[in-house]
Amino acid sequence: MTARLLDGTALSQQMRGQIAQRAAQLAERGTRPGLAVILVGDDPASQVYVRNKVKACGEAGFHSVLERYDASLGEAELLARIEALNADPAIHGILVQTPLPKHINPQKVIATIATHKDVDGYSVLSGGELLTGLPGLRPCTPYGCMKLIESIDYDLRGKHAVVIGRSNTVGKPMALLLLQANATVTICHSATPDLARHTREADVIVAAVGRRNTVTREMVKPGVVVVDVGMNRNDAGKLCGDVDFEGVSQVASAITPVPGGVGPMTITMLLSNTLQAAELAAG
Ligand code: NAP
Repeated sequence: MTARLLDGTALSQQMRGQIAQRAAQLAERGTRPGLAVILVGDDPASQVYVRNKVKACGEAGFHSVLERYDASLGEAELLARIEALNADPAIHGILVQTPLPKHINPQKVIATIATHKDVDGYSVLSGGELLTGLPGLRPCTPYGCMKLIESIDYDLRGKHAVVIGRSNTVGKPMALLLLQANATVTICHSATPDLARHTREADVIVAAVGRRNTVTREMVKPGVVVVDVGMNRNDAGKLCGDVDFEGVSQVASAITPVPGGVGPMTITMLLSNTLQAAELAAG
């Protein structure tokens, strides 16, 4: 391997230490950052995710509450609970774990979270703030990808960034963040006819597809910076990304591993957003 490793575990550890310090300073001034996590139903993966989020809050010295509800919880009851958390001064961030049961409209749920407590950054208003360049809470996964690129002092100005994937939670906000950093951005998706034509011209590639080997060695130019958001399983059942790490790391200048790249950064940016919301609330 010749590429430098964009180590999300190490960067997370360093950032979480700084976040814990800032949280302690804020707590001394009377505001302890607080995150409320709501889980509806008993999806096993969601249970692991919320547990990890609450654990990370504890380690950073945050106040956190985990509210668990049966899958039969009514939509109106959930919205009422969010309204109550919107009004709770001890809570600065609200996160409703998805997927939600089918009878609950996720758009309505996200729209009910107060924008200044929308620490996932998924609401239409948070998206609008990002689109227009206003300050606000940015979606955690793409925000974490930006921090990984920043961590190697890579100047995105004038660089060609190719984002593969256009989901509202990863691909689109990622493209906007890269654009804000003055990159020239191409967004590819399932209807892009010749993906390799675009990736071969890229200085930076962010892959957020959910299909392994979407990016292989022949598809990239030497020196490319590669951020792999994908989470897939290989034939042996091991976690892997969208990028052929073995091949691409021979020619890239920097690359994220999977696991240990983007994954840990997502929770770190959730903490960062919650701290930011608490600092703003404290004035
Ligand atoms: P998603 O909503 O399913 O979006 C996938 C995107 O990939 C879509 O825009 C789709 O295009 C595009 N796509 C599918 N096949 C393609 C192909 N052959 N060539 C080019 N583009 C293609 O998924 P997501 O939520 O954005 O997540 C993407 C991946 O990141 C998943 O593996 C997910 O598990 C992972 N993820 C990881 C983290 C983390 O913390 N590490 C966080 C979030 C997501 P269309 O729009 O045309 O369908």
